[in-house]
Amino acid sequence: MNLRDLLSPLYVWKRAFEKPYSINTLKHGREAAPGYRGFHKNDAEKCIGCGTCAEICQNATIDMVPVSDAKDGDSGLRPRVDYGKCCWCALCVDICPTGSLTMSNAYTWVEEGLDLDVRETYCYIPGVDKKDWDDNNLGYVRPEGYELLHLDRVPMPHLNPEERANSFIELVKGYSRELAKREADRCIQCGICTATCPAHMNIPAYIKAVREDDIEAGLKFLYETNPLPGVCGRICTRRCEDVCALAHRGEAISIRWLKRYLTDCVESEKYREILSSEIVANDKKIAIIGAGAGGLSAAYYLRLMGYEVEIFEQNHAAGGMLRYGIPEYRLPYDKLDKDIDFILSLGVKIHLNTCIGRDITFDGLYSAFDSVFISTGLFEPYRIGIKGDDHVAVISGLKLLSDVTNSIPVELGKKVIVVGGGNVAMDAARTAKRLGADVTVLYRRREIDMPADREEIAEAFEEGINFVFQAVPLEIEDLSTGGIRFVYCMAKMVDHGDGKRPHPIPIEGSRETLDADTVTSAIGQGMNFQWMDGEAKANISFGKWNIEADRWGQTSDHKIFIGGDMFNRTADAVTAIADGNRSARAIDKFLSP
Ligand code: SF4
Ligand code: SF4
Repeated sequence: MNLRDLLSPLYVWKRAFEKPYSINTLKHGREAAPGYRGFHKNDAEKCIGCGTCAEICQNATIDMVPVSDAKDGDSGLRPRVDYGKCCWCALCVDICPTGSLTMSNAYTWVEEGLDLDVRETYCYIPGVDKKDWDDNNLGYVRPEGYELLHLDRVPMPHLNPEERANSFIELVKGYSRELAKREADRCIQCGICTATCPAHMNIPAYIKAVREDDIEAGLKFLYETNPLPGVCGRICTRRCEDVCALAHRGEAISIRWLKRYLTDCVESEKYREILSSEIVANDKKIAIIGAGAGGLSAAYYLRLMGYEVEIFEQNHAAGGMLRYGIPEYRLPYDKLDKDIDFILSLGVKIHLNTCIGRDITFDGLYSAFDSVFISTGLFEPYRIGIKGDDHVAVISGLKLLSDVTNSIPVELGKKVIVVGGGNVAMDAARTAKRLGADVTVLYRRREIDMPADREEIAEAFEEGINFVFQAVPLEIEDLSTGGIRFVYCMAKMVDHGDGKRPHPIPIEGSRETLDADTVTSAIGQGMNFQWMDGEAKANISFGKWNIEADRWGQTSDHKIFIGGDMFNRTADAVTAIADGNRSARAIDKFLSP
């Protein structure tokens, strides 16, 4: 034994009277390197509560917990980090699709009176629970260009503009199996999209089914809340994609195209086999007025519940606005029929060419059925509201589209003006172009204000449609030489500071003209209730624009329900489909007290 060994215990005793080194370090700190991975920070404004950080954490460090003040496209949850588990790997920071999650370089956290038995002691919700390091600008952020996510979409093959100029062939070609799987692979399965989808489709589940090549499971997920998935896979307004977590830094998942892929993979004949469900019939009958998206959706779910369902449709084919308001290059009839045929194959009866008020009275229907669901859509085009708008050369966009559907020859002439900025305006303009006309769209606001789908606007530009923005219609003059002269003035956009979108205000003295053979007005549609009669009508309360109903679509006559555009005025198919599903459940509740 040497002398040092003999003296060692004395050295130790010396330490017993010193202040503990580690506690001092904790209390007074020691500067960390600028990029050190310290405690987390989260930008509460950016975080959408997608939970991707929690998913990737290999240590189960992150729980998603509810917070108040959720915004649109936000789950209302925020990550809570448990520092009893964190290994500071920063995977959560690297994956965060919004870029909200970062790490400070603070690494000491001292609190008085800690209860070390309580797990929550070292847990906090970054961005919500205030911490000293919230304003610390050092630390770890995902390095520029370093991506764990695939931010770019797998492009969808399209017909090029020259190929589609004179053709009604579907312009979107659809994903192959390989492309669909690649696109599905990008999905982080956060499910933020589901809340925003009006039909609350189980989007992560069907995207996962694409990825796993389990087409049958995918089809079943689609039909849980949407019996027109082939339609929605083509023309859905896809609000889900607007809130997709990936859209915060890259391109949203092509949710619509993946839905389309699933339905295109399955032949009509296989639908019954895959979606088979036993229908236990009851003795109640439901009448549905209108075979559009809302009516067909209600019919499907009511039939599955065992009701005898009869649809009354004034046109010679089912589909409503899907058939008569959307051109075939966007929604081919055979794809529409595939969805409709499956619904009818379940035993739903349909009476085509049957007009309520002409072939059968509303009262008669009311007394013959246990409940009536009305979903007639908005088929009454608004007039432009200027002098000369009753000219024979002025037709509605809807008439143009439905005439083409019905193969009625349309004489538009060489030059066509389309007034409006919504999807009907784009569809009318692009249809007129395909019929050989030189087309100009006049819209009273700016391009960014157009309510039409961005994709439709871009495709219209590609196809050579001319646009005049901030053009306010004044008058339509009859030209003795034939045709008409459309008179309009230019407008400036004025923000009134009322939170609404800026208004177009005509510029004094401006006056422009455009000669044309046909003017197509596509500035919106309203309702028409002339077909309603008798006592049943008397029991319903009418608002200024529509029938009044509760959130289930039940009117003041509790036997009558409404849905679709006449109820919510969003004028999109998926909302009408959601209405049909919701009212089917409400009707079932009403009839099974
Ligand atoms: S991954 Fe990002 S956006 Fe998603 S919950 Fe976590 S911190 Fe929020
Ligand atoms: S840094 Fe790593 S261990 Fe810590 S919460 Fe993030 S992913 Fe989990």
